[in-house]
Amino acid sequence: MLSIKKFVLYKFLAVVLAALCAAGCKEKMKREERHDPYQTAREQMVRVQLEARDITDERVLAAFRKVPRHAFVPDSYQTSAYGDFPLPIGEDQTISQPYMVALMTQLLELKGTEKVLEVGTGSGYQAAILGELAAEVYTIELLSGLAETAEKRLDSLGYKNVHVKAGDGYLGWPEAAPFEGIIITCAPEKLPQPLVEQLAIGGRLVVPIGPQHRAQTLTIYTKQDTGLAKRYEGGCYFVPMRGLVEEE
Ligand code: SAH
Repeated sequence: MLSIKKFVLYKFLAVVLAALCAAGCKEKMKREERHDPYQTAREQMVRVQLEARDITDERVLAAFRKVPRHAFVPDSYQTSAYGDFPLPIGEDQTISQPYMVALMTQLLELKGTEKVLEVGTGSGYQAAILGELAAEVYTIELLSGLAETAEKRLDSLGYKNVHVKAGDGYLGWPEAAPFEGIIITCAPEKLPQPLVEQLAIGGRLVVPIGPQHRAQTLTIYTKQDTGLAKRYEGGCYFVPMRGLVEEE
């Protein structure tokens, strides 16, 4: 039989232990917040802008919970990094609205084994999201200044499976082809033929097609033995694709 004294002592010890654990948890949460002050804002972005709309792919949602979007925008925009809108990244270019990045990513239906090509690296945010979801990511940026910054940023965040190149994405990345997924994050008026050739059979290509500085149509191409199947997802607005595509 437990004496009353021992019972009170054990109870006291249990209460002290519970209090210590709770304090430890609180301290850990505080440390995490100090380490990443945007964790709450990012969680809010995922809930309100993605889950509450039509982003249902759990892997995509997990990637958005993980990638620090604030690290991909200029310092002066860091506090707005998790807002429901695109932001300027310099050189007249923008990082797309989180929802648009998520929608295009979800449309690629990645399982984790794929090689993916992105045209239009910009800040490198979309490339980092893809880096979480595919085996290898190849991304091309026309403006060498943006390509250089994005490459350094992705490197410092540890994205070893994301490869950045400065150049005209119209030509794709033939040395690394074929790709199971291709995503174009600037808007061409017509689909660049070299990219169709670099798409694997069964692969998907997601692109906003349409005129410069007007609404475009988010289009999904699927490559089959018999040719390309096409479907439309809805309207969108992207900066124009420049370079060789304009000479077609
Ligand atoms: N995906 C980016 C946003 C892209 S903005 C992000 O996550 O931040 C579109 C980018 O496409 C711009 O940086 C623009 O310079 C680039 N671009 C335009 N034409 C291009 C081309 N022909 N090849 C590669 N990049 C191009």
